[in-house]
Amino acid sequence: MSYVDEVLERVKAKNASEPEFLQAVEEVLESLRPVIEANEEKYRKEALLERITEPDRQLKFRVPWVDDKGQVQVNTGYRVQFNNSIGPYKGGLRLHPSVNIGIIKFLGFEQVFKNSLTGLPIGGGKGGSDFDPKGKSDREVMAFCQSFMTELCKYIGADVDVPAGDIGTGAREIGYMFGQYKRIRGMYEGVLTGKGLTYGGSLARTEATGYGLLYITEELMKCHGESMEGKTVVVSGAGNVAIYAIQKAQQMGAKVVTCSDSTGWIYDPEGIDVALLKEVKEVKRARLTEYAAARKSAEYHEGRGVWQIKCDIALPCATQNELLIDDAKQLVANGCKAVCEGANMPTTLDATKYLQDNGVWFICGKASNAGGVATSALEMSQNSERLSWTFEEVDAKLKQIMVNIYHNIDDAAKRYNMEGNYVAGANIAGFEKVAEAMLAQGVC
Ligand code: GLU
Repeated sequence: MSYVDEVLERVKAKNASEPEFLQAVEEVLESLRPVIEANEEKYRKEALLERITEPDRQLKFRVPWVDDKGQVQVNTGYRVQFNNSIGPYKGGLRLHPSVNIGIIKFLGFEQVFKNSLTGLPIGGGKGGSDFDPKGKSDREVMAFCQSFMTELCKYIGADVDVPAGDIGTGAREIGYMFGQYKRIRGMYEGVLTGKGLTYGGSLARTEATGYGLLYITEELMKCHGESMEGKTVVVSGAGNVAIYAIQKAQQMGAKVVTCSDSTGWIYDPEGIDVALLKEVKEVKRARLTEYAAARKSAEYHEGRGVWQIKCDIALPCATQNELLIDDAKQLVANGCKAVCEGANMPTTLDATKYLQDNGVWFICGKASNAGGVATSALEMSQNSERLSWTFEEVDAKLKQIMVNIYHNIDDAAKRYNMEGNYVAGANIAGFEKVAEAMLAQGVC
């Protein structure tokens, strides 16, 4: 049996109850086949794939907090420190009721390769909790964040592990967590990214994931002789990634006609009104029904459905496994040219294959959404030198990083005779650097 198959089997047997983690591992190992085959004996002897698919450590802890009625609530906190061979662990904290160890492991595993692709010195990790910030008061969110950090602070540090935002964790949550870290550890350091601008945050970090997604999408189009100008774009999600993806797409001259949240979706043929969307989602933390109520041209639909809208470019920016095989078929039937993932693993394996087999240019999240974590690494640099850079400086670096990622993954795919397969290219380019660092550092 080939080394890849052997390890895949072992990972499946060991992690049978973690479907998302298995999906992420399968995607990576499948596309690494040619790289592994070229070095099979050495990698097998070094147990490189066993090591790379096993986190350095997994932390799981109780998070008790008191709600506004005086009732004690208990959530579960997680931090998976996956791999620090190229830098301190780095990755977000997801606060969502669906969070479990399998979800955090899949995200941590993806993060290892994504962070490698940025070209910056950051390892991979991820954390979070099954806490649901929706409908909670600011005081309840603070109580949760303080309790969460009371435990997490023992395991992180500016040169150890640097968490950040993800679904459910934005500037408010990062602020509460930073305050608690500082208080307990008595130390002012860049231990979190996505901080507020008054206490060490970086300009352009808020916009970075969405902007970065559009910078790489634009480069992809450009390299195929196309531009963003006049294109119809379909976006899912209405969180941080979606909002700034929509904004940048519009700045580039495209028309974005959809967005969605957990209960429904908007079709707005005149183009999404970003200011209104920000007001509804960032200020009021309300549902998209409020967007529809305030805008004549918008239709609101319950459930899911953005992928049925005819488009040139589709940008899934909501969450994992939100673009399924039937959606892929619909996109192809409607003439969609490119799919670039803003979320982490939003497209299922069979949907990805269908899109690629039908000539759709497909860039996976670990490449196309790397702008967020890349800018987090720029925030770490600024914290280390105790300086802050201008918006233009950070934005220019972000753009360069995304353009570089596109060419690196394109080149990696070409080197292994898989031209146009950006999934394989991303996995190979991300893996090569981590693998080399791991081998150089001996058995650890
Ligand atoms: N949660 C984001 C991601 O999935 C950002 C992580 C970070 O900035 O550390 O990459």
